[in-house]
Amino acid sequence: MNTPAPYGWPHLDPELRRAVDRQLDRSLSDRDASGVIGEFEKEFARFVGTRHAIAYSSGTSALHAMCVAAGLGEGDEIIAPAYTFFATATPFAYEGVRVVFADADGWGNLDPADLPSLLTKRTRAVIVTHMWGNPCDMTAIAQFCRDNDLLLLEDCSHAHFAAWAGHRVGTFGAMAVFSTNQKAITTGEGGVLVTDHDQFREFALLHGHYNKRSFKEIDPTAPHYQYALTGMGLKSRMTTLSAAIGLDQLSKAGTIERRRRSILDRFADVLDGNPVVSPVNVDPERGSNGLYVLGLRFNARAATVTAQEFTDQLVHRGAEFDMPGSTGVIANEPLFHRPNRAMPWTTVPDIHPATFGGAQQFIDSFIKAPLFGYPGDEPAVAHHIDTLVAVSKEVAR
Ligand SMILES: *Cc1c(COP(=O)(O)O)cnc(C)c1O
Repeated sequence: MNTPAPYGWPHLDPELRRAVDRQLDRSLSDRDASGVIGEFEKEFARFVGTRHAIAYSSGTSALHAMCVAAGLGEGDEIIAPAYTFFATATPFAYEGVRVVFADADGWGNLDPADLPSLLTKRTRAVIVTHMWGNPCDMTAIAQFCRDNDLLLLEDCSHAHFAAWAGHRVGTFGAMAVFSTNQKAITTGEGGVLVTDHDQFREFALLHGHYNKRSFKEIDPTAPHYQYALTGMGLKSRMTTLSAAIGLDQLSKAGTIERRRRSILDRFADVLDGNPVVSPVNVDPERGSNGLYVLGLRFNARAATVTAQEFTDQLVHRGAEFDMPGSTGVIANEPLFHRPNRAMPWTTVPDIHPATFGGAQQFIDSFIKAPLFGYPGDEPAVAHHIDTLVAVSKEVAR
């Protein structure tokens, strides 16, 4: 069997190359939002449906800005998912915030039923990740945050195209972050913080966009204007070339969404009634998938092999399926167990490992593949569908 070219993202078409080439002549560094950075931010805010967007050098640095803008630090607690990519929570740990972990539901998302037992006098915020593109139960989580006067923060890095109850993810809380690393909308490296709140926007600017931009955009009558020169100490601006790539990708967002959604639907059709694997997809009555990856649930009881052996067989036939490695239970990482932020890296804290049954169950059965979504991807999509159908037939009990 011929195997198609490996998945590459974004698709480097002539338009994208021209956009980068034009930007090389225009500017390699923007100190404010008067050029491509501002244009990208405006389009990104329009894409999500928020009033403001601020670009950063990475999703991780945007999450760090979100922590600082939320005013969280030592003595505060945040409830975070035990199962996520670690950078959802590591910037909070860096700032000395105590991270308290919630277990996962059947979609790998933060389980709202876990929240009441994790609440303490020090809890200030809840952060969620819409795992592998499926939106969390934002109705329940937002209600819990309102009832307990907590900030709601979203990590939407997997879920650029997701919605819940008719609203786009990224619009439910005080602030949200979208990584634009190799995600559905990409800038190469990068991240974007979005918010509807003017004050959070100004605080976020002070973290990463000091001097010229802060002087221009922060209310001169506000007390925090006095930090405009130095910011809060760090600079983490996006490069102009990344913003140019992002603008190109946003101009194609409609096409990317249509193509990826149609591929997701095709997998769902083909797998309908398949006893071995089924798509991990949000109930369409409640929300829509964010189109980062194709997520599958492996049903071990219906198969003669393990999930890992099944995945290995798919890979052996040239299909790009995998069981995610660096995204797992993060709660037992030493960074989250330092008694204070100043603890030196030569000292590793004692950890009493905690188990998260919901997360582990999800991890043990979760397999993913790229969703492709560019012109010319048909052979790759067809190959992945054919391989999945063939191997699941072979291993079915
Ligand atoms: C990619 C990702 C991040 C980190 O973003 P970077 O741009 O790689 O720094 C954070 N959270 C989640 C869920 C991610 O997938």
